[in-house]
Amino acid sequence: MKKHPLAKLDQRYLWHPFTQMRDWLQGEPLVIERGDGARLWDARGREYLDANSSIWTNLHGHNHPKLNAAICTQLDKVAHTSALGLASGPAARLGQSLVKLANPRSGLSKGQPRLAKVFYSDDGSTAVEVALKLAYEFARRTGRARKPRFLSLDGAYHGDTVGAVSAGHIDLFHKAYSGMLFKTDKVMSPYCYRCPFNKAKPERGDARDTRKCKFECVDKVEQRFAARKKRGSNYAAMLVEPGLQGPAGMIAQPAGWLRRVAGIARGHGVQLIADEVMTGLGRATNHFFANHDEGVQPDYLCLAKGLTGGYLPMAATLTSREVFDAFLGDYAEFKTFFHGHSYTGNALGSAASLASIELLQAKATAAKRKKLANNLRAEAKRLWGLPQVGDIRQAGCVLAVELVRDWRTREPFTLAKQAGIRVCDGLAKRGVLTRPIGNVIVIMPPFCTTQRQVKKIFAALHDSIDETLNTP
Ligand SMILES: *Cc1c(COP(=O)(O)O)cnc(C)c1O
Repeated sequence: MKKHPLAKLDQRYLWHPFTQMRDWLQGEPLVIERGDGARLWDARGREYLDANSSIWTNLHGHNHPKLNAAICTQLDKVAHTSALGLASGPAARLGQSLVKLANPRSGLSKGQPRLAKVFYSDDGSTAVEVALKLAYEFARRTGRARKPRFLSLDGAYHGDTVGAVSAGHIDLFHKAYSGMLFKTDKVMSPYCYRCPFNKAKPERGDARDTRKCKFECVDKVEQRFAARKKRGSNYAAMLVEPGLQGPAGMIAQPAGWLRRVAGIARGHGVQLIADEVMTGLGRATNHFFANHDEGVQPDYLCLAKGLTGGYLPMAATLTSREVFDAFLGDYAEFKTFFHGHSYTGNALGSAASLASIELLQAKATAAKRKKLANNLRAEAKRLWGLPQVGDIRQAGCVLAVELVRDWRTREPFTLAKQAGIRVCDGLAKRGVLTRPIGNVIVIMPPFCTTQRQVKKIFAALHDSIDETLNTP
């Protein structure tokens, strides 16, 4: 078959993110043209299920009538105006809506901050960048640290801008740029399946449920803070993805980890930055934010991917009045937060976000999320029969499957084998689209995905793993 003309144009002119373009140029890329609910169609009319919500952004499905209408209504008024010097209705209303959503009336442990102010930017990286800059300045201005340093988790990924990369710890992505970065410290993440402290043998179940340990990973966090203190210094903030460390390989945290770690950080007078770019807004949580599953409220809450329901690039960093107040002063004191982007508080993005949050709060959506989480859990069970399935871990509406050479030994495939990539290619052939993280297959469909569709996803995944990894 001749290459589709749009595929040709793409290959001629574009450079794709996180992509070895030599491989890209050899194949024929799928050109996605249309979407509806959990389904996508390519330019040749073939139908797919969007099993990773278009790189973890889409919450309620594609082409959603309420989101479409919200954007069209705003579009008839104005698409974008500057947030430098001007206010805008949609952005202001969204601020109110986010602050309400982020401060539930119950369920949080006492003595934690109230999130009161919203700073907008464009994507997850910039939401994190804003939090880092605010925390840095806050630590200096309040005399908590003269040269503030950050602590984050091993394997962490918080985005691709230089600050966010500095806080990341994935050598494959970050090493090349080490000369451009500022120093941050890392501490072990609670990766139960591959934890050196977990004495349990591999079993056919989520490693968190069978783990045999004494939460040594939490002791490591305490030790890190103590070591910093011994050197007469302190961290400005600790940066975590609550509940589920996504880009690190969908590392789901055991219950109680975040609550304990947040307690340690607070005990040392260190602020918390929660990167809920992926987990938040109902995705990897039973609440609206994964922090709240553990009763934790951070000092900075970073939101992006699902904020607009997956329609437009928009991000928000929420923080407390205490942080906000540290930037108040006479003009000539220059305490202003000198940071911002041209599209800050975009009206179309704000309108989409407002509509998406309204949907999220509807009873019907809560029911859909619960059903989806249950269906994912039930259908994933069929994978345990495959010897290459090492771990299956789930948080809310996100499920991950870690592929290994043999489940009895947990021996990983080398990355060069591209086990994850090949399994996902097999999935695409079967009408299911997702992207792996190394050897981890991510299943994260929109909330509207039906039981029949979930069945189809896991049948395809089962067959693709079997075909790809069982044939020598
Ligand atoms: C995707 C992601 C980011 C970066 O967001 P972009 O919108 O790609 O800049 C940061 N943190 C987490 C946890 C993410 O999943």
